[in-house]
Amino acid sequence: MALKIYDTMRREKRVFEPADPSCVTLYVCGPTVYSYAHIGNARSAVAFDLLHRVLRRRYGADHVVYARNITDIDDKIIKASRETGEPISVITKKFAEIYRADMAALGVLSPAMEPAATEHIAGMIAMMEKLIAKGAAYEGEGHVLFSVDSFADYGKLSGVDRDEMIAGARVEVAPYKKNPADFVLWKPARDDEPGWDSPWGRGRPGWHLECSVMIEAQFGHTIDIHGGGQDLRFPHHENEIAQSACAHDGVPLARYWMHNGFLRMGAEKMAKSLGNVVLAHDLLKKWHGETLRWALLSAHYRQPLEWTEELLTQSKRQLDRFYRLLDEIDFSSEAGDAPESISLTLEDDLNTPEAFAGLHQLRDIASQMEGAAREKAITRLRDAGRLLGFFNVPPKDWFRGADEGGPSDAEIDSLLAERAAARKAKDFSASDRIRDDLASKGIVIEDGPDGVTWRRA
Ligand code: AMP
Ligand code: ZN
Repeated sequence: MALKIYDTMRREKRVFEPADPSCVTLYVCGPTVYSYAHIGNARSAVAFDLLHRVLRRRYGADHVVYARNITDIDDKIIKASRETGEPISVITKKFAEIYRADMAALGVLSPAMEPAATEHIAGMIAMMEKLIAKGAAYEGEGHVLFSVDSFADYGKLSGVDRDEMIAGARVEVAPYKKNPADFVLWKPARDDEPGWDSPWGRGRPGWHLECSVMIEAQFGHTIDIHGGGQDLRFPHHENEIAQSACAHDGVPLARYWMHNGFLRMGAEKMAKSLGNVVLAHDLLKKWHGETLRWALLSAHYRQPLEWTEELLTQSKRQLDRFYRLLDEIDFSSEAGDAPESISLTLEDDLNTPEAFAGLHQLRDIASQMEGAAREKAITRLRDAGRLLGFFNVPPKDWFRGADEGGPSDAEIDSLLAERAAARKAKDFSASDRIRDDLASKGIVIEDGPDGVTWRRA
């Protein structure tokens, strides 16, 4: 069966055929590292992690190269540095680390490459020189601008009309621009701002140029799949396409374009600029990463997803039902072949709602079986879930995980230590009080030959 993905450029689901099946290339626009990622950003990382996993399964892990960039120079980073007094490199390093750790907690496999913009300044200068030589870019007052009139296909990906764009004031008018729709490749840096020497004076790159240059450096002229959130179609991806095609004599940047839909809070997109964000880092303090991943993948990646407390509670409840069954088997047993049906569903443009339905079905089948057949069915269920990046937590740990509202593991351990001390002092009324108190919060204590154990009821 063929792998099919929805190509935003062609506006249809297409059979995916890599240029070279022994080296499938995927590039996704990554974070700007000046602050914590919100759960909307995580949706993009998780959706493309699933694609990454599907590609690895189909072509072999050694035959897929995934690059996700880090934007480590940007106005927002400069602003954060001014506000906190911390040097830019300290901020970007710190938040890149936090991003990696938070995404890992969501089950996101590390990309093979994580190029940082500041490591590619020389390549950016070279691309601008090439664009200027070809008449696709020009200098104005220390800026380098891309001339959108030089690229006939400008607007093809997003469907944005150039005249509409100007009329709708979606572009900035400036005296150094020949056409208001022209966009900045390089801009001058003030003395108190970070900058690099260039033929146009000391300056820093525009965001769009970074991705074109990093893709060129890692992969050459054309990649198989380029991904990102749907907000990036215009102007970011439109500009990447124009820069790369003009620098490479019209050779297209990507053969397929994929975009994830928005995660919303109520009727609005979750965005830092709207001030309605929930940070992945904070959610991970209360919820297990797999619960967040389940919530994020519960809707198809191109559909909007509304983020609510109810979605999280539901996701946790569903995973609990799976883990209760998984607790019956030797969890660390070797993985077998996962059911073909789930794999096929994922190969149909990452149809996660169908794949989830398939997992529920496998669970229902397993729970009706007995003996060796039951064990085998549960193992199949585990292996099916792992295709999507779930069921990696030993079930005992899953159920010991922090519960909503209840006492934390540390609180329970400290109460148990108090109880042990009370018993040692033969203060049995105190020790009983602690046990009853924990029982009322759903914590069951068992006094066994090897000491005291506890579990959440
Ligand atoms: P940014 O750091 O804002 O450039 O975003 C990083 C990635 O997250 C990009 O691919 C964005 O398109 C994506 N993204 C940002 N906000 C959302 C959202 N609310 N829902 C889904 N994806 C988003
Ligand atoms: Zn990009």
